[in-house]
Formats: sequence, structure tokens, C-alpha cells
Amino acid sequence: MIPYGMHDVGDLEEQAIVDVIRNGWLTMGPRVREFEASFSRKTGAPHSVAVATGTAALHLTMLGLEIGPGDEVITTPLTFVATANAIVQAGAKPIFADIDPVTMTLDPAAARKKVTKRTRAIMPVHYGGAPCDLNAFWKLGRSKGLTIVEDSCHAVGSSYRGLPIGGRGDAQCFSFHPVKTITTAEGAIITTRSRKLADRLRALRFHGFMEDATTRKSHGASAYPRMHLLGTKSVISDLQAALGLIQLERLEEFTRRRNELAERYTKAFAGMKALVLPTTLAETTSAWHIYVIRLDLSALKCSRDEFMEALRRENIGTAVHYLPVHLQPYYRKRFGTRPGLCPIAEAAYKQMVTIPLFPKMTDRDQDQVIEGIGRLLYYYQR
Ligand SMILES: *Cc1c(COP(=O)(O)O)cnc(C)c1O
Repeated sequence: MIPYGMHDVGDLEEQAIVDVIRNGWLTMGPRVREFEASFSRKTGAPHSVAVATGTAALHLTMLGLEIGPGDEVITTPLTFVATANAIVQAGAKPIFADIDPVTMTLDPAAARKKVTKRTRAIMPVHYGGAPCDLNAFWKLGRSKGLTIVEDSCHAVGSSYRGLPIGGRGDAQCFSFHPVKTITTAEGAIITTRSRKLADRLRALRFHGFMEDATTRKSHGASAYPRMHLLGTKSVISDLQAALGLIQLERLEEFTRRRNELAERYTKAFAGMKALVLPTTLAETTSAWHIYVIRLDLSALKCSRDEFMEALRRENIGTAVHYLPVHLQPYYRKRFGTRPGLCPIAEAAYKQMVTIPLFPKMTDRDQDQVIEGIGRLLYYYQR
């Protein structure tokens, strides 16, 4: 079975982990600081704060921005549940605005219409690695006094107008779960240009203790740490950071291969009328975390699920990214969200299939996927 996604962790990573074990520091320590510095160099981010998971990164960012009860955060329905859950966990209300049908990312015009007096932030997602229309969001943020938090969990290696995602915005959350473009097994980084937010995030990931040199000076290095915020325990370990340091060195290699595979798909599928192919905005590059095709079901005699099942029989693994979050049972029950709230995302959901794309995938694997899809489109054509 060719999976839809797969990490690439090799001998260098193994060696780096063994080194950490032999050197004796296991949890958050010097490797984590190196990993943060290395991520800042790669992205141009003034501050990088490493945490346990992408989910924690999003949650801590809400807490770091003091977003909570009474506040609203506008986000996309076409995302992993963790995006919206972070807003709810912080005590705020998620407001879903529809997506742009071309990039599948949050539509700035739709988001603008949902801004109220309670809105504090907008949380777009760089869906599949394709950057959202950041300039439009930054402009909207400036004009309304809102923070733009980019869920960048798909976008390690993506760029916007010539610069890496993560270097310029208010806050960006990157995940290093194995299915993403680089991995630390579990782990994440929040980048920000705000010193204040970075300091708060460092406290929030470790019980609310401020890592503040001036406090250390006045109280002595051995003084019991002062807790200033109600923090969490969301640290990443040196073992994981060691893995991440190697993966970060390999990021260009991964991004190049992912782009090569995406281009091959796009070329091979160009003539297939029943397919809508993924598109990225001008002046952006995608890290191609996932490659999502959409089926024109009016031209086919099968449903999306039947198409996926037929691919499975050809040993081709697929997935659906995602059931729109506002249609999840919890959201329907708690916030009363219903079908019809975001019609573009709902229609896209019914058509979408994520097909295999990962750096270790061979051209032969990919040819098998292309042939399989071509055959099924012919078989199911109306
Ligand atoms: C993976 C993912 C997350 C959560 O990241 P974890 O590291 O798995 O906690 C959040 N948002 C999006 C869009 C993701 O794809």
C-alpha cells in the first residue's frame, strides 16, 4: 500500500538521538535552544519558541495573547480540529468564515464580514502548505486592530513573496508531527516578532515560570523560580530537538522533492477533465504537505468515497482533509453550527481526496498512482 504521507527519518537522525542519550541531557535543554535558533535562521523569525505539539502551540498562543472568555477568533472550517479547539480551550468563541475556492484557505473577504467588536484575532491556515493571502489578512489586522495567528502546521518550507512563512507575522504555529513536512516525532515551534509574546510563551510552556535574567539577578540563580502566569507543561525534549535539527538541515531536500512530485502530478492530470487540481497564489511557494485533488462528481458515476475505496483496492492510500470543523458533532452541539454556514468549504469537502505525496515516494510509486487514477476516471466517467 502506498500511504498518502510518510516521514523520512534516517541514519543522521538516529545518530543525533544516540548522541543526546550518551551526553545525558534528555528533556528541554541545550538542543532545544539550538533548534529554536536554527529555526529562526531558516525562517527569519525574530523569536522561536519550541513546544510539545502543534496543538499546544495554538493553545498557548491564544493564552499568550490573552484571548479568552468574551473574545471571538475568526478561522477556517477547512482545517484539523486542533485549530478551532485551541480557540475553545482558551475560552473564546470560534467564528467560521468560508474559504477561497482556488487556494482552499480562509477567504479574507469572508473573514472581514465576520469581524465584530469582540473579534481579537484571525487564524488562517496555510492549507496543504499553500500560503493564504497574507497581505490581505495583515491589512485587515492593521485596520481593525486584530492579531493574525497563522496556523502554519502545513507550511514548514513554504514561502510568501520570496520570504519563508514564519519570518514576519504576529504569530505562526508549526507542527513537527511525523506526517508534516519535517518531524521531531511530536513537537512544534511558535514564531513571532513580538518579544513580549515570546517571553509569555516561554513561561506558559513551563508552569508559568519566567525565564528572566533580571529576576535571576535580583533573586540569585538558586532562588526558587517565580510563577507569574498560570502556565502548562508543554515542553519539547532535547531528544526531539536533536531529531529536529537534522530534519531542518534536510528541509530543502524535502521541499525540492515534494515540489517535484507535485509538478509531476499537475502535469500528468492536466488533461483529466473530471479533476480540479490544487492551486497556489502568485508569488508564493508551497511545501506541499499534502496534494489534494477534487473530483467533479457531475462528470462521474461514483461518489468520492467509492472512488477512494477503488483506489484502496489498487493499493493506493488516500485521506480526506478535512470534514469542515463546524460540522463536527461537538461544534454543532456547542455552537449550533450547521450545514450552509460555509458552503464553499462544504462543497469542496464532498469532492476532495488527498493522494500520496512524500519525499521518499519513488517516481514508480507515483506512476502507479497516476495510472490508477486515470483508469478509475475512465471507468467511472458518465
Ligand atoms: C497537525 C495539525 C495541527 C496539530 O499539530 P500536532 O502537532 O499534531 O498537535 C494543527 N493544525 C493543523 C492545520 C494541522 O495540520
